[in-house]
Amino acid sequence: MTYSIQNAIGGAFTDSTSGRTQPIYNPATGEAVGTLPLSSVEEVNQAVANAKAAFPAWHATPPLKRARIMFRFLELLNRNAVKLARELSREHGKTHDDAMGEVQRGLEVVEFACGIPQLLKGEFSRNVGPGIDSYGDRQALGVVAGITPFNFPAMVPMWMYPIAIACGNTFVLKPSERDPSAPMFAWELLKEAGLPDGVLNIVHGDKTCVDALLDNRDIKAVSFVGSTPIAEYVYARGTANGKRVQALGGAKNHMIVMPDADMDQAADALMGAGYGSAGERCMAISVAVPIGAETGEKLIKALKPKVEALKIGPSTDADAEMGPVITGEAKARICGLIDSGVEQGAELVVDGRGFSLQGYENGYFLGGSLFDKVTPDMDIYTTEIFGPVLSVMTPQTYDSAVDLINDHEYGNGTAIFTRDGDAARDFADRIEVGMVGINVPIPVPVAYHSFGGWKRSSFGDHAIYGPEGVRFYTRLKTVTQRWPDGIKAGASFSFPT
Ligand code: NAD
Repeated sequence: MTYSIQNAIGGAFTDSTSGRTQPIYNPATGEAVGTLPLSSVEEVNQAVANAKAAFPAWHATPPLKRARIMFRFLELLNRNAVKLARELSREHGKTHDDAMGEVQRGLEVVEFACGIPQLLKGEFSRNVGPGIDSYGDRQALGVVAGITPFNFPAMVPMWMYPIAIACGNTFVLKPSERDPSAPMFAWELLKEAGLPDGVLNIVHGDKTCVDALLDNRDIKAVSFVGSTPIAEYVYARGTANGKRVQALGGAKNHMIVMPDADMDQAADALMGAGYGSAGERCMAISVAVPIGAETGEKLIKALKPKVEALKIGPSTDADAEMGPVITGEAKARICGLIDSGVEQGAELVVDGRGFSLQGYENGYFLGGSLFDKVTPDMDIYTTEIFGPVLSVMTPQTYDSAVDLINDHEYGNGTAIFTRDGDAARDFADRIEVGMVGINVPIPVPVAYHSFGGWKRSSFGDHAIYGPEGVRFYTRLKTVTQRWPDGIKAGASFSFPT
């Protein structure tokens, strides 16, 4: 039995009439499990028109009442977390525990959005001139849009719409076409929580949909998360159309291992950060940088047996540490990059290309791969592989490791493992990367901080969610007021004549 995904426009499920569809696959089996509509420009415009119509009343709703809907949504998310995790694993392939972690990180943004009355409080100055007061506060933008990637189908949309709508905006979401069920389920929960019709709309589709959102004059801001070429395109087209745009892109995240680091701890951290979610995380560590040949040898020795012993399986296997990659094309692309690494002279210490899982031969599974002796000119170093492949590079000094990281075009996340506070502090100071971990391999900021890379990992001025999210989805209004003499000028004791 396959299912058909619908759009959610104006508070109702609607069937797309575009006539274009695309299958949804279970990556563990390679079977088509559902059908996704590729909506038309008219359908996108209809969703935007619904969001625009819902805006005045939603914007006028007191923040406290908007927050109460968020509290109810949070409650429903907590109650339905397991179901939501299962829905997303079926289409994404990640393990159940990892999916539960994703749901948790998403709902933490909803927890943050529950505090919106406090977050929207403005500033006030009395007597900026004689009898003149001034106050400023942040107001919603209007209709805003979100375009999201496949790798966190529940969490990344939740980086966006809870804050945007809590701020008083209305929203149009275009989720990834690979795993659309999780955002649809979350939409149902939000509706059950009492969200008025038209405040959150979901349209499914491809580039046609994205372009329609970028060109629609009623959309005031666009949040995008995905690969760098598309992020750059969305940023350029959106801003050319006068919109505020935040566009988060791809990554190549390095982890320095200093000679004084506990090697088992560092190796365990690299296993989770490199191979968790089959390496399909924008904050995955894809390059380990041990300092000096001796540290390099120790690290490879610690990593090799662990990579070989990785437990790989479908999301329904409670023991699995990593699942399949998202599509057959992704698998072929990753294998092609591994081939190029071998051709360009890297040493393939563990080869995951031939991996096959009994009973799941048509699934998009790959084993973990480990490369040593990688150099900066190799494609496996310059390209975001987005698969279960870890590269090791061994510069002689800490300073050359810092230069290596700073020279990379991406600057999303990075980490250092060391026992030395001075090295850690220097690293945090000098490294040109937006999110830095010190003995923390994946330093994703919590929901009340903000998430954002540097360089070509992010386009636009604002990081996403947290306080930066509130700033992105609002604009400042400052009022300066003076009142002419009023009734206090004097009481009259006679009937007016
Ligand atoms: P993607 O760029 O292929 O797709 C992202 C979105 O853009 C999807 O909704 C897709 O439908 C749309 N899209 C795809 N091609 C388009 C085109 N030509 N024109 C207009 N829209 C288009 O990314 P993906 O494969 O879904 O996700 C993986 C990528 O996302 C990786 O590069 C990863 O690093 C990145 N990512 C970044 C972050 C971050 O916070 N920086 C977080 C998660 C994922």
